[in-house]
Amino acid sequence: MSAKKILTKKSMDFLEKYLNNAAPTGYEWEGQKLWMDYLKPYVDTFITDTYGTAVGVINPEAKYKVVIEGHSDEISWYVNYITDDGLIYVIRNGGSDHQIAPSKWVNIHTKKGIVKGIFGWPAIHTRDSSKEEPPKLDNIFIDVGAKDKAEVEKLGVHVGCVITYPDTFQVLNGNKFVCRAIDNRVGGFMIAEVARLLHENKKKLPFGLYITNAVQEEIGLRGAEMITQTIKPNIAIVTDVCHDTTTPMIEKKKQGHTLIGAGPVISYAPAVQNKLRERIIETAETNQIPFQRMAASRYTGTDTDAFAYSNGGVASVLISLPLRYMHTTVETVHRDDVENVIRLIYESLLNIKDGETFSYFE
Ligand SMILES: [Zn+2]
Repeated sequence: MSAKKILTKKSMDFLEKYLNNAAPTGYEWEGQKLWMDYLKPYVDTFITDTYGTAVGVINPEAKYKVVIEGHSDEISWYVNYITDDGLIYVIRNGGSDHQIAPSKWVNIHTKKGIVKGIFGWPAIHTRDSSKEEPPKLDNIFIDVGAKDKAEVEKLGVHVGCVITYPDTFQVLNGNKFVCRAIDNRVGGFMIAEVARLLHENKKKLPFGLYITNAVQEEIGLRGAEMITQTIKPNIAIVTDVCHDTTTPMIEKKKQGHTLIGAGPVISYAPAVQNKLRERIIETAETNQIPFQRMAASRYTGTDTDAFAYSNGGVASVLISLPLRYMHTTVETVHRDDVENVIRLIYESLLNIKDGETFSYFE
């Protein structure tokens, strides 16, 4: 496939709708329904599981199974404690960032619908400038405009309600996509686009393709751990986001050097199967798709680990989309990278043969 533009008006409309829908960890199903609606014309059937992971399947009869995967959940907060004065203290559901909370609006998800709230913060005038306190989990709090605990409860808010940010999709300077939850709504989007392109270009694969949108990645790869036992794949190509390390206060000696606009990032890590990764790299080179490299000691921290270390070992690779400001409400990616991840996964699938073992000993 040439470098011609991949994203259509229809795909962009879907991305926007899919991003703007909240899908906090443990509560992914409405987002999964949107995703399955979009994917439906391009797959033969779906698998869903008890906790909400959704899988579009092409060639369900095939013995040899290839997974392409992203995760569907987003970080959020839980209501943990409501004070007598009607203020709400939170705990994390995923790696939510306490530093960005003050002054943000929030959506509290209740049975009665969304209840609006704000993370308050003491005014600059009232603080002691000689000992400024940074926002921490134990000092950030949500105000829902209620005078006491009873009024909070009357709104339908109780301990255990999940809380998300209302920020929606925007385009910055023509080709940067900005939103909360691009980690990893964009992964589900990119694998769906691969399925669309296979369908539109009438490509017949010699194996079963399992387009997998896993739940509960943000709290420890749990959805992937479950679905890999159900699918029992031969190969897993996982996509997630990784850091752009070129913005201020990031130490490249520790975090490596990767940036938006320079292409997909291919991982080196024990969980990454070397022969499969070399196939991906060879595919990128043949098709002149730009790419970057990243190394991880021990874990990749992505669903790659869950697939790799399942079912007696599944050949797995990680293709990441570089992103700025991860786990903030202004996560930023480059449109070109989104298209190049889609191209790289698409071309890699066309470069995998039925029954390949990727054994080091053959
Ligand atoms: Zn994340």
